[in-house]
Amino acid sequence: MDFKHLPHPAPVPGETRQQAIADPGFGKIFTDHMVVIDYDADQGGWHSPTLQAREPIALDPAAAVLHYAQEIFEGMKAYRHPDGSLGLFRPEQNARRFNASARRMAMPELPEELFLESIRRLVSVDGDWTPSIEGGALYLRPFMFASEAFLGVRPARQYKYVLIASPVGGYFKGGAKPVKIWVSRNYTRAAPGGTGAAKTGGNYAASLVPQMEGIENGCDQVVFLDAVEKKWIEELGGMNLFFVFDDGTVITPPLTGTILPGITRDSLIQLLREEGLNVREEPYSIDQWRADAMKGNLVETMACGTAAVVTPVGSVVGPDGEFSIGSGGTGQITHKLREKLVGIQTGAVADASDWVMKL
Ligand code: PMP
Repeated sequence: MDFKHLPHPAPVPGETRQQAIADPGFGKIFTDHMVVIDYDADQGGWHSPTLQAREPIALDPAAAVLHYAQEIFEGMKAYRHPDGSLGLFRPEQNARRFNASARRMAMPELPEELFLESIRRLVSVDGDWTPSIEGGALYLRPFMFASEAFLGVRPARQYKYVLIASPVGGYFKGGAKPVKIWVSRNYTRAAPGGTGAAKTGGNYAASLVPQMEGIENGCDQVVFLDAVEKKWIEELGGMNLFFVFDDGTVITPPLTGTILPGITRDSLIQLLREEGLNVREEPYSIDQWRADAMKGNLVETMACGTAAVVTPVGSVVGPDGEFSIGSGGTGQITHKLREKLVGIQTGAVADASDWVMKL
């Protein structure tokens, strides 16, 4: 499909841009351009891919997304490598998950090659926005929403795919410092048969009240329990979890449809196995977590995702009070895995698994 390129009439000049991205924070600054691809079921599907100046999107007030929340998104980072090139980490996995989310939300799939091409196009004009600070990256946010104007609950016939980019630093203010986790007892995130495995906005809207509850209680993130027994640990609002034991066993909750299949999660399973650890995807309960942490055989807990990569969980605040994981600091395995993964992502360590796509 031919991309139309509409050059930006007034891109941010290099010097101003460098100042803007010296301390980018997370998700606050955006690059000059965006990609837009339209879909119309009555006009043969996807058409008119365009790389253009970033600007507001005109929407009919009856656009289906505003009423029935047919929306999905992805998140990935491009890192600056020592040779000056930019590298993406397993972007074909994001393309695949985007389509899995689309299927669950009754939305059209976007050909994986078109998804990847949109990223190559945007990075070709806005790659210079990638911060050179440690931990910096160009965060890419592809999303799709129902743009058809109608009121009535059925899958829309028109959609927009949009890709924007944002220079980012670390996700948590404390860098890779251990985070404090709030156990959500009053709210759950996803029920069996629901949309928990899809990356759709509604899941995140539902997580805001428990997230606020966590922050009010001095925590950084919320851990959700299963919706049926309120017993099994699922995931954080935006990260998957790994529990590391002193006998070399590592447990991570299984993909049963209620948690997001994280790409960092999948990568860590492989890296941990390469380290000779015994990784098991199986249910682990909140009561067992507390008991094992207090006993001391649970030595580390890692939270992982694109935004924060690998972050240690230092302590947990639950209904029975607070407990610490290990010494409350960064454990050995967490540190090692973080170094290894960041090394692969940033090109400092050789990528033996073909995980990096150079742009
Ligand atoms: N769970 C949720 C709910 C998330 O939003 C994310 C971030 N995409 C993750 C887990 C981690 O997924 P990934 O490693 O692919 O970023």
